[in-house]
Amino acid sequence: MNELRINGERLWSSLMELAQIGATPKGGVKRLTLTDLDRQGRDLVTGWAREAGMSITVDQIGNVFMRREGSNPSLPPVMTGSHIDTQPTGGKFDGNYGVLAGIEVVRTLNDLRIRTEAPIEVAFWTNEEGSRFVPVMMGSGVFCGAFTLEHAYSAKDVEGKSVREELERIGYLGDQVPGQHPIGAYFETHIEQGPVLEDEGKVIGVVPAVMGLSWYDCTVSGMEAHAGPTPMHLRRDALQVATRIMQEVVAIANRYPPYGRGTVGMVQVFPNSRNVIPGQVKFSIDLRNVNDELLNRMHEDMLAFIDRTRGESGLGIDIERVSYYPPCPFHPDCVDAVRKATEKLGYSTMDVVSGAGHDAIYAARVAPAGMIFVPCKDGISHNEIEDAKPEHLEAGCNVLLHAMLERARVVAG
Ligand SMILES: [Zn+2]
Repeated sequence: MNELRINGERLWSSLMELAQIGATPKGGVKRLTLTDLDRQGRDLVTGWAREAGMSITVDQIGNVFMRREGSNPSLPPVMTGSHIDTQPTGGKFDGNYGVLAGIEVVRTLNDLRIRTEAPIEVAFWTNEEGSRFVPVMMGSGVFCGAFTLEHAYSAKDVEGKSVREELERIGYLGDQVPGQHPIGAYFETHIEQGPVLEDEGKVIGVVPAVMGLSWYDCTVSGMEAHAGPTPMHLRRDALQVATRIMQEVVAIANRYPPYGRGTVGMVQVFPNSRNVIPGQVKFSIDLRNVNDELLNRMHEDMLAFIDRTRGESGLGIDIERVSYYPPCPFHPDCVDAVRKATEKLGYSTMDVVSGAGHDAIYAARVAPAGMIFVPCKDGISHNEIEDAKPEHLEAGCNVLLHAMLERARVVAG
């Protein structure tokens, strides 16, 4: 069993074939969720699954589960999956790789007539990208109960078409109640969408967790005045106070290494005039960490600093938290299965915490879950130039195969 390998060329050619549907002149893919192109992509993938002898279930939010039976029908399936919708200027690999890696695992098991005790399932989740309809990660979100089916159905695109209408139109409004589908364990392979693996020269990222994030809007209010006649000690300069806070955002992140992140990405200065002392500054704060307790301490540190700065400066400072997602630690058993498979196969590896969202975050709310990352060129994704090496995609798929087999267990003989 240790010698078992997937067929990298077949995986690559399936990826290239799927990428033809919605192919863009720059070499990317535009296949927005629940469009005619999405239907074609879904039909192609489910067609491949049928050829591989799999049965297909579609739920009421259009999530598709493709199943290869196990020898023990009472066991919940070991599942893998991702998404096949893309951004308007998306790439060939984001999401698609995770789904087709699953299909390749099944094809390999078929070739070698390997039976597993637990069923193997490959899923693609509806509207992961959130580009045409909000919220993002819609299918997996409904599945795990993060929001309701009605909420998802009522989402409309810019032309006023609803998710429900479009599901029906493309023939993927299924019967199964979302979530009424047991999962024994869930694995997702994905391009890293960041530069760490490439920078470190590693092939496989073992993903222990996805970062949590806290977003804030901050406003500092002072007083506009003429830059010449107003002496320094009589100013109420909102920008000088705001920059103190901005520096502290980065300092806080640095106090919580290695996964503390602090970013001020958006700044508006009023009135934004060369010879006027700024009267008001609005800016965003993005704090992240992989550990919820540390993320909370970062939050507390920032509020304390703002209180102090308010007192010292005498200026008005408002801060409002506008978004919060807790970190998502993956299940130790699944992380271990990925780590063991990687070591067994002899690939260079490191742990990579995900800074981006994935369907696996929602799957992790209802089942043990884990992820496998492979490098992508220059860490770029959500871009038509997104690129990945065939040998890396093959390696990630081999890790997936062995991790899934550990959970699904091979039937002897
Ligand atoms: Zn993705």
